[in-house]
Amino acid sequence: MATQDDSKTRLTVAERAERRVARRGMRLQLRAAARNDDITRAIRERVVIIGGGIAGMEAARQLLMLGYKPVIVEKDDHLGGHVASWHKLFPDMGDAQQIVAKLREEIMDATIYLSTEISVCNRLKDGYNIVLSNGMSILTRAILMSTGFTLFPAAKKEEYGYGVYDRVITNADLEHWFNTGDDARIPAEPKAVGFVHCVGSRDLKAGNSQCSKVCCITAIKQAMEMKERFPDAEVYCFYMDLRLFGKKYEDFYIKAQMESGVHFIRGRVSEVSENMQGQVIIKTEDTLSGKPAKITLDLLVLMAGIVCNKQAVHTASMVQVQTDSDGFLKSKDNILNIIETGSKGVFLAGTATGAKTIPETAAEARAAALAIHNYLVTQS
Ligand SMILES: Cc1cc2nc3c(=O)[nH]c(=O)nc-3n(C[C@H](O)[C@H](O)[C@H](O)COP(=O)(O)OP(=O)(O)OC[C@H]3O[C@@H](n4cnc5c(N)ncnc54)[C@H](O)[C@@H]3O)c2cc1C
Ligand code: SF4
Repeated sequence: MATQDDSKTRLTVAERAERRVARRGMRLQLRAAARNDDITRAIRERVVIIGGGIAGMEAARQLLMLGYKPVIVEKDDHLGGHVASWHKLFPDMGDAQQIVAKLREEIMDATIYLSTEISVCNRLKDGYNIVLSNGMSILTRAILMSTGFTLFPAAKKEEYGYGVYDRVITNADLEHWFNTGDDARIPAEPKAVGFVHCVGSRDLKAGNSQCSKVCCITAIKQAMEMKERFPDAEVYCFYMDLRLFGKKYEDFYIKAQMESGVHFIRGRVSEVSENMQGQVIIKTEDTLSGKPAKITLDLLVLMAGIVCNKQAVHTASMVQVQTDSDGFLKSKDNILNIIETGSKGVFLAGTATGAKTIPETAAEARAAALAIHNYLVTQS
């Protein structure tokens, strides 16, 4: 039989449970408030982004959305990096200029210093004091290195005659011509055009044993664009392997053969020379048929690879970021922490750490922006 004392006990248990819930709720609210306070403090804080290519611009866009004040320091007189010089982009043949312009528009609220570099970077207890070449000085707790890549200097592969024969150009030269129509080396009506894959990539002698990842698909894209402009021309791709790893890349390859009629010849170009008419003669071996081939071309395009940006290596050394064995900037590790470094408050994004496509670069930039936000909030 329940006594008055028992009912008191039951009530007390219920009250206790209620109070426990209330206390837990209060604790959660206090924690959330503290977190919000951290976030509020972090908001409007400056984050310095070195390099205003796709990686730097996309990271700036994300940081603006998170409430920070990104400051882009770009050594050239324009944003967009290499993509600002490209024409149509694989895999969807989107307009490179439009993509850069759209990103540019979305980062109007960022501070952007063009034709500017880092002169000095002093490590402070809780961040960095960065002095720019324009005399400005910025205090920041987080730095993003998005300094990108450089194109392998094709003249270093002397056997291909870049800079010696008029009709030998690079993939970047061809993009420039697609955009401007301005290159006296490109004949008005070429009848035969060749693309040499792996120029300065997968080549120990050239000092770069890595695959540049994007040049097989770029060669196919450019070969198709040439066929569109010059339907009667014979277009050849000379390759060792075709590395077509990305979304829709195989479709491109099939289309290039079946619809555009591009010829794919598996074999290394061993010799390039010039005839009296200024045409380029290449010697190769078709390793699939086992036969040597000698082809006269009106234009030879060298697919120069993606190599590390030496100037970036210098800037990186100012913030204690090292280089990896492939020459690119060194991540904390290459599996889960590619955007982090061994240097406190310094992050990486894009081709600064190796060859990448634009979607991969943009994804990494977004990840870096989030990592910077988490870092700043937890350090507050
Ligand atoms: C010929 C060719 C065609 C391509 N076509 C495609 C395509 O169709 N689709 C695709 O997905 N990908 C393509 N790519 C790959 C694409 O170019 C890269 O993914 C993209 O450029 C990477 O952007 P990023 O910002 O990492 O580097 P970058 O474009 O190299 O930009 C880096 C920026 O940092 C600046 N910078 C460097 N050092 C410093 C410094 N010390 N201080 C200040 N600023 C600095 C540079 O001036 C530059 O503006 C192509 C690549 C090549 C070679
Ligand atoms: S992507 Fe193709 S052309 Fe470029 S380095 Fe790799 S295999 Fe060679």
